[in-house]
Amino acid sequence: MTTTEPTTLELDAVVLGAGVAGLYQLHQLREQGLRVRAYDAAGDVGGTWWWNRYPGARFDSEGYIYQYIFDEKLYKDWSWSQKFPGQPEIEQWLHYVTDRLDLRRDIQFGTRITAAHWDDERGRWTVHTDRGDVVDTQFFVSCAGMLSAPVKNIEGTDSFAGELVFTSSYPEQGPDLAGRRVGVVGIGATGIQVIQTIAPEVGHLTVFARTPQYALPMKNPTYGPAEQEWYKNRFDELRSTIPHTFTGFEYDFEHAWADCSPEKRQEILEDIYQDGSLKLWLASFGEIFFVEEISEAVSEFVRTKMRERLRGDQHLIDTLVPVDYGFGTHRVPLENGYLEVYHRENVNLVNVRDNPIARIRPEGIELTDGTVHELDVIILATGFDAGTGALTRIDVRGRDGRSLAEEWGRDIRTTMGLGKHGYPNLLTTAVPLAPSAALCNMTTCLQQQTEWITDAVRDLRAEGKSTIEPTAEGEDAWVAHHEEVASSTLVPRTTSWYLGSNIPGKPRRLLSYIGGVGTYRQKCEEEAAAGYPAFARR
Ligand code: NAP
Repeated sequence: MTTTEPTTLELDAVVLGAGVAGLYQLHQLREQGLRVRAYDAAGDVGGTWWWNRYPGARFDSEGYIYQYIFDEKLYKDWSWSQKFPGQPEIEQWLHYVTDRLDLRRDIQFGTRITAAHWDDERGRWTVHTDRGDVVDTQFFVSCAGMLSAPVKNIEGTDSFAGELVFTSSYPEQGPDLAGRRVGVVGIGATGIQVIQTIAPEVGHLTVFARTPQYALPMKNPTYGPAEQEWYKNRFDELRSTIPHTFTGFEYDFEHAWADCSPEKRQEILEDIYQDGSLKLWLASFGEIFFVEEISEAVSEFVRTKMRERLRGDQHLIDTLVPVDYGFGTHRVPLENGYLEVYHRENVNLVNVRDNPIARIRPEGIELTDGTVHELDVIILATGFDAGTGALTRIDVRGRDGRSLAEEWGRDIRTTMGLGKHGYPNLLTTAVPLAPSAALCNMTTCLQQQTEWITDAVRDLRAEGKSTIEPTAEGEDAWVAHHEEVASSTLVPRTTSWYLGSNIPGKPRRLLSYIGGVGTYRQKCEEEAAAGYPAFARR
């Protein structure tokens, strides 16, 4: 849907975002008979998969696990051409879903929600957009994504004389890279995909690397009819297992470190490593998240693999192999030939840990010691203000004019990641204190959260009530539970976007609930079955 004139509308629900969560949320609320419209700043559906169209963007969840599983026919009528498909195919899949569910007529693209204010007397939200729309709605449902507010932390970007792009808003017709001097800043999951993809094409590539990453090689076989039939025949099995595993994948932790001899452990690690998936992280030894010695042993296994591939080059090893945090306590990226890129003649790796980037200048990137790397194109893969950034960039005001940006700026609190005390009828997905804030196969978690929201709205209406809001006590209890679970793991001792440490001044808290996707689901189901005791419903 495209509109030219600003509209004044009365709706039952506004859905923020038309990505994986927003599409399904729109479908479900509409099926309930609600008047719903989704708004997205993007030009089409896809959310993260619309914006992040940088070279090499692809899943590192298996395509057949990332799909929606709420409808068997919708699932089986789509076929992936690879185990880990690339962005263009992912975007096509989301178009397929949109068309099958006839969602487009209720989505307004090219429209950014700028403000949402709650009126307690009327029990309704007023939502404003950057196109001048004013929408009066009972429910405001955020499906804004956990990684949709980009980090722009390097000064001088406007002064660059060449072409500068952010991976988080990579243009459809990106800059011509062939034969040119290209600089990439960032070696997170995004930077890695870009670097390994463009290295053979560019004239010269300079990679600016700060914190090293444990990288695992991906094996990405092509899928033809036989493989497609194989995974489609597993639909019932997948539907019954995926929602209940620790991270919403088909696999789960299978081995106990204490039960295995050192040889057996090595054999298991080697075997899982050869799988070429995230299994080494999410389905090897669960103790890596809890026990320092076990974390160190598995970390050393991965480091050894990385050092072998870096062929003893000390500069590469020092810059790329992590030593000061454990494997799996930061997000683990999968890669294809990434480390080997650094052996190419046309690739230069610059360590900016001790000599940080000072600024971007007309001719390139200047480091703190005054060195200037001259470039034609700069690609910034500098990450996101995760979990909270999408909503704190909007003027969200709850009861008595309280500001969500201010409250989350002091302390990041939610009730099960589904709502926040003080903000009635604001229902949320992919915000902190739920697995969907970081640690899960996103579609598994987003389906669960949107289904819970749909049920909560249905139950509310069925009882003739009109508002639902987390109680202060319920929120205290959830935050305490979250902290207790988080502090039993090694993850809060680290610094990465998982704890908001990439954003200066952001309150430090593990964003993701780390009690497991299955456990979280169970707690959400119990909350609903008990009549929503952590929520005030009026
Ligand atoms: P990220 O993991 O936060 O990485 C950002 C990178 O930019 C880091 O290397 C960071 O260094 C660096 N950086 C930021 N500011 C810098 C500066 N001023 N100077 C030098 N370096 C700077 O972000 P991302 O790579 O976009 O990945 C975010 C998440 O998106 C991933 O963890 C993953 O969950 C998701 N993702 C998924 C896929 C997939 O499924 N296929 C692909 C891409 C991304 P420091 O670490 O030192 O701050």
